[in-house]
Amino acid sequence: METVFTEKYPDVKASFSLEVSRIIYSGKSEFQKIEIFESPFFGKVLVIDDCIMLTEKDEFIYHEMITHVALHVHPNPSKVLVIGGGDGGTVREVLKHQDVQEVLLVDIDQMVSEICRKYLPEISSQLSSDKVTCQYQDGVEFVMHSKDKFDLIIIDSTDPVSVGEGLFTQQFYHACRRILNRDGILINQAESPIYTRKWLQDISRKLAPVFPGLDFYHAHIPTYPSGYWLFGFASNKYHPLKDFRRDKFMKQNLSLNYYNPELHKAAFVLPNYVRKLVYDR
Ligand code: SAM
Repeated sequence: METVFTEKYPDVKASFSLEVSRIIYSGKSEFQKIEIFESPFFGKVLVIDDCIMLTEKDEFIYHEMITHVALHVHPNPSKVLVIGGGDGGTVREVLKHQDVQEVLLVDIDQMVSEICRKYLPEISSQLSSDKVTCQYQDGVEFVMHSKDKFDLIIIDSTDPVSVGEGLFTQQFYHACRRILNRDGILINQAESPIYTRKWLQDISRKLAPVFPGLDFYHAHIPTYPSGYWLFGFASNKYHPLKDFRRDKFMKQNLSLNYYNPELHKAAFVLPNYVRKLVYDR
């Protein structure tokens, strides 16, 4: 069998296609359509509501960059909250840090984790770690009512549409800050400066008034819209470069495929048009 999956980007009248050699799973949860298929080059691909969430080939880039930047800045990231991220890739990377004692994953959709545990064990297996608790509920509801405090919050969400929309409001960002410790850091996936410019601008405008410090950094992710992706780094206290802990990286000797100390610094060097989008508010 040979067919093609096409993710459409209607706003920019463009699309991205992958050859499909096998459909592994296709179903619908209470919240969204979930599919896994195999591509000859990209390996297994997780698709939610017709958008590529990850591929086995390039997921390391997204998952390393959404986690290790903040984890090499915060001096004691003991308690981490992951919102979204039901596939487990972010949790897998967070747990590479020995100083992380507890991870709470809050995803709205239990079925994402169930399907990933079954078909993508290399990405999801750390969801079963003793350090991890998985809670399946709306991240907005959780954050609004939580009495816990965290050192790091990672928002590993779908796009700001459908169930993901609430994770991009200023009210939600305020609630996140409330449950961060005084020196806490928030990281979020911040969309594409080319294809989803408006979403990125909105994130910057809404986050900036909430946190004393807000920076953006980038990564090259071939299977995401435009292949070029931004992340937000919002903090109560730490600067992503001035407080970067190279010594921690040297001591830990982690096995990573994308992130390294030089890249940590370089990732914050943005092209002029991106700087304008995120810093000219
Ligand atoms: N890296 C991916 C991307 O940007 O394409 C995101 C991957 S992860 C699978 C996204 C997760 O966010 C999904 O499992 C989805 O169920 C979850 N999600 C969406 N809206 C949510 C909400 N309001 N609360 C908690 N989780 C949510």
